[in-house]
Amino acid sequence: MIKVDQLHKSFGIHEILKGIDLTVHQGEIVVIIGPSGSGKSTLLRCLNCLEVPTSGTVKVEGQNFADPSGRYHEKRVAKLRTEIGMVFQSFNLFPMMTAIQNVMAAQIKIRKKSPEEAKVTAEEYLKKVGLAERMHHYPNQLSGGQKQRVAIARALAMEPHIMLFDEATSALDPELVGEVLKVIRKLADEGMTMILVTHEMRFAEEIGDRIIFMDQGVIVEEGKPDDMFNAPKHERTKRFINQVL
Ligand code: ADP
Ligand code: MG
Repeated sequence: MIKVDQLHKSFGIHEILKGIDLTVHQGEIVVIIGPSGSGKSTLLRCLNCLEVPTSGTVKVEGQNFADPSGRYHEKRVAKLRTEIGMVFQSFNLFPMMTAIQNVMAAQIKIRKKSPEEAKVTAEEYLKKVGLAERMHHYPNQLSGGQKQRVAIARALAMEPHIMLFDEATSALDPELVGEVLKVIRKLADEGMTMILVTHEMRFAEEIGDRIIFMDQGVIVEEGKPDDMFNAPKHERTKRFINQVL
């Protein structure tokens, strides 16, 4: 589904990603862990064309979207954005729209659905994330966990093949984390291909098919959850795991 080769990304003189190689297969759940500032978000953003790589290739379903010259083909990028859904730490909902209007908007604008069609799909996905009763609420009438579930429903309504979650629960009060993880777990059970960046180590261990540890712009180590959490090989991985577990 995703093949990244020798991905480099610099901001000015700072090289943030220093040659990332990553392959993600259909239905696989890859969890990326690592200290703050190690480049996890930048990597996800490169996968979704929110950042232009400095060099290297990013292939999604066989198509190369990373063009170091910056000449992105808008149509291809628009198509990519419908194939990859992304959920951020800050929910990024439109404050002046209700939950259902938030879920409908991109379907109409990007998928070119009629409002009627978009409404049916929006209702379906809001139900799926457990928000049937909250469809007509505005974001400021929802809890953080509910807002994040609206954001997930909005991404799913585009019917993506891959979902990226960048610290989706980091901004939530502890008692609201579970309801969002439950939705992510449900997607995993349905076979969605996913890449998650998270600090929830128990969840990472439970849900991940593979754990990747990043530090200072490189993949230091990757492996099965059991090996990574109980028998990490590299000193840096050991130190990080000991700090966070
Ligand atoms: P992580 O998600 O692992 O915490 P990030 O990918 O957000 O790390 O950031 C890695 C480094 O890249 C940080 O030092 C950050 O300041 C820098 N960085 C990220 N985005 C930009 C940007 N748009 N311009 C300049 N520096 C950036
Ligand atoms: Mg980040």
